[in-house]
Amino acid sequence: MRVIRTVDELRREVGEARRSGQRVGFVPTMGALHEGHLSLVSAARAASGVVVVSLFVNPTQFNDQADLAAYPRDEERDAALAAGAGADILFAPGVTEMYPDGYATSVHVRGVSEPLEGAHRGASHFDGVATVVTKLLVAVAPDVAWFGQKDAQQVAVVRRLVTDLGLPVRIETAPTVREPDGLAMSSRNMRLTAADRPRALALKAGLDAVAEAVASGADPRGAEAHGVDVMRERGVEPEYLALVDPGSFAPATDLALPSLAVVAAKVGDVRLIDNLPICPQPHTEEPS
Ligand code: AMP
Repeated sequence: MRVIRTVDELRREVGEARRSGQRVGFVPTMGALHEGHLSLVSAARAASGVVVVSLFVNPTQFNDQADLAAYPRDEERDAALAAGAGADILFAPGVTEMYPDGYATSVHVRGVSEPLEGAHRGASHFDGVATVVTKLLVAVAPDVAWFGQKDAQQVAVVRRLVTDLGLPVRIETAPTVREPDGLAMSSRNMRLTAADRPRALALKAGLDAVAEAVASGADPRGAEAHGVDVMRERGVEPEYLALVDPGSFAPATDLALPSLAVVAAKVGDVRLIDNLPICPQPHTEEPS
């Protein structure tokens, strides 16, 4: 695996591979790699001739400077893990390579970026995500880019910008990878204190409670309220716990259609998110 720091060198390297007929798969990350990231690298490996993984802690998507400062960084470890999962190129640019002096351009996706994560982290969060993903897709020019369903709203924002800007890339997703007890893997989990780690299970418990309530016939707002109660019983106050349309992230109104339960909460100092797809319940006739 080669470590590349500049866009020019990346273009030369990937261009050569493409000219030799290889398909290019791309996995953008902010590092602190875990099994969730590596599942995306493995999926890209299985589907492409060349696999590019990017490692860039994007400062413009952090609304909280303390969160940016505390973000775990260990390039040596990440490089070994990425290579082990099948990456051919690790693109690890410095901040000035991505945002040169005088940088003044931003990509803003209206609509789907506004509720939930957009409302709670501030509009600048998804502007930062949309801008860096656009820049990375232009730099790597992959055939396919892989994203985790764990960050479902991010995927919806990326799909929107790819369609709107006509970028020639297919977006693929892979399911959320969880710890054995159900906690969604996240680079932030390592910052949970020993006392907070069990409380972090409240997010998944809240989502499961929403799914159970839907299965037993609750309406969307009733199901959300039940999920919130379950989280509070576990000592965690959600920032939001909502049933939404998986495309627009508007509140779900018709549970005969697929929906998505999404949640965010601070556990101690650590802000976590998770989500769970909710399938429509098959209509069962009462026995006569
Ligand atoms: P990040 O480094 O947090 O920006 O994440 C990089 C990519 O890994 C994003 O597409 C995330 O959605 C994905 N990802 C993060 N956590 C998980 C997980 N637990 N399971 C699957 N994908 C994940």
